[in-house]
Amino acid sequence: METIRIGVSSCLMGNKVRYDGGHKHNRYLTDVLGEHFELVIVCPEAEVGMGIPRETVRLEGELDAPSMIAPKSGADWTKRMNSYARQRCIELAKEDLSGFVFKKRSPSCGLFRVPVVQKNGHPLAQGRGLFAAEFARRFPLVPCEEEGRLSDPHLRENFIERVFAFARVK
Ligand code: SF4
Repeated sequence: METIRIGVSSCLMGNKVRYDGGHKHNRYLTDVLGEHFELVIVCPEAEVGMGIPRETVRLEGELDAPSMIAPKSGADWTKRMNSYARQRCIELAKEDLSGFVFKKRSPSCGLFRVPVVQKNGHPLAQGRGLFAAEFARRFPLVPCEEEGRLSDPHLRENFIERVFAFARVK
């Protein structure tokens, strides 16, 4: 049977790549999905050169074209992250991915309802992380999910079915 590859946010694999040097190991990914699929690991913030540990970043401004700012230092990572995301997606096209599981709420990896801070200082939870946004733009038909939603049996089953269906027809 042909190997099916899916992308995964690196911290979900237990890799210590988060801003605080920690991880967000998700056992379902490593112990179940990892048994059936080849996992392709991506950490946008480490790969773009923010370092580990690092200052936290957040999204600010327009919901559909937000800036990525480190509030403490004021560093603006928007151009570097968008440029990295475009280049990384060109490389990922060669991996022939049939799905991607993203880390929720991350300004880089979050797929749904990522907070975007508005001019009044209040966040609107309606954004998408910069890498996840570029991935969804570049691969609109590739099934994508967040790890939190995979704890729901219906959403999980639906995602797995979509991955197998996509792998069959692509
Ligand atoms: Fe890296 Fe994404 Fe995990 Fe943040 S959420 S640590 S950018 S893989």
